[in-house]
Amino acid sequence: MIGSCGEARLQDTAAALAKEREQKEIAEKKFLDVQVRKHSGGHGACWQYEMDGHWHPFSAEGNDQMQQAYLAFIDDEHNCRWANVVAGGVRRMVDFRDMTQTNVDTGKRRAIRVVTGVPLQWESAPAALLTQRDDLRSVYVEVNDASLAEVVNRLLRSSGHAWDVSTECCHMKKATVKSIHRIENYQLWQRYQARLRAMREDRAKYNLQSEPAALDLDGREGVMTESQPYLDCGEPLARDVDEKILLHGTSWDNADSIVMHGFDNRTCMRGMYGDGTYFAGAACKSHQYSCAYQCKWSSTCLCVCERTLIIARVALGDAYYASETRYGARRPPNRIGSKSTHGSVVVNPGPVKGHKQPVQVHQEFVIFDREQAYPAFVVQYWP
Ligand SMILES: [Zn+2]
Repeated sequence: MIGSCGEARLQDTAAALAKEREQKEIAEKKFLDVQVRKHSGGHGACWQYEMDGHWHPFSAEGNDQMQQAYLAFIDDEHNCRWANVVAGGVRRMVDFRDMTQTNVDTGKRRAIRVVTGVPLQWESAPAALLTQRDDLRSVYVEVNDASLAEVVNRLLRSSGHAWDVSTECCHMKKATVKSIHRIENYQLWQRYQARLRAMREDRAKYNLQSEPAALDLDGREGVMTESQPYLDCGEPLARDVDEKILLHGTSWDNADSIVMHGFDNRTCMRGMYGDGTYFAGAACKSHQYSCAYQCKWSSTCLCVCERTLIIARVALGDAYYASETRYGARRPPNRIGSKSTHGSVVVNPGPVKGHKQPVQVHQEFVIFDREQAYPAFVVQYWP
């Protein structure tokens, strides 16, 4: 039997373990970042060879040569499968069909691979990602996974105020998922990762110590919080930049533009908390922006049409918590005593100075940098 003292000790140990795990994750992430940056040049792909049971990266020079030779190989199937790569004084004969390399001088043969650094669950092959063009079909990957559909259904029906029949939010109670597409846009993913690295550098430079933002403040169940790990595509959310899974309601046509080119706040409507891109922590909020007819009754609209929800990864960084409206603002406010700006603006439910209603009902998250979010899934649903 564990007494209260024992329980406290257990909790301490669990907290210490969680802390240690987090630090280890951050260190690993940093190490991988450095490797990818050092070796991948501009294209983001990291070529590696196998030695003694471990994968080792090529030098930057070797990596560039491997990449160019590989692109030439996959560009044309009649191309020669072999390439000569000379880097660091070592001559290698590379075979892209077998994915091996042979040291020309010693005859030693080793396995090679290319690491693109995309989430584990992405299905597109490296060759497809590296040669991706502006083609919608190559970035929409339909997901037929009953357990994922269940997570998304719950998110639609139970996040926020869907239970409250006195509000419009209750329209979400019967929402049903029609389709889910995972977005596998390599270039967009790389731009997003580059932004995350810049935010990490900022965090170190300004010694930022912010706590992660809380979710579900406009719901009575912890639906968003609980859904987070199921929607990360196998790439754990980065805690050091407060990466979150959040929702963005839009039309199907707009979704096409977002999955191709990312979220663009320059084309967004002017909002109460600045001219940024807005995300919600509850589906009853994102639903207000999902009317395909874009009718002027957006917040109370009952138009019968298929709706679109983008489930996005959003890096909040050190958020500024707004308790006043910020019409026309083009970026988050400065950090206290600094000329640098906060990572994002978060508005929690409650009284807000300048708000046209007495209180802010839904939680909202606003970013002002177009690279700071990635559209992970596009969902079509019936309200
Ligand atoms: Zn609501």
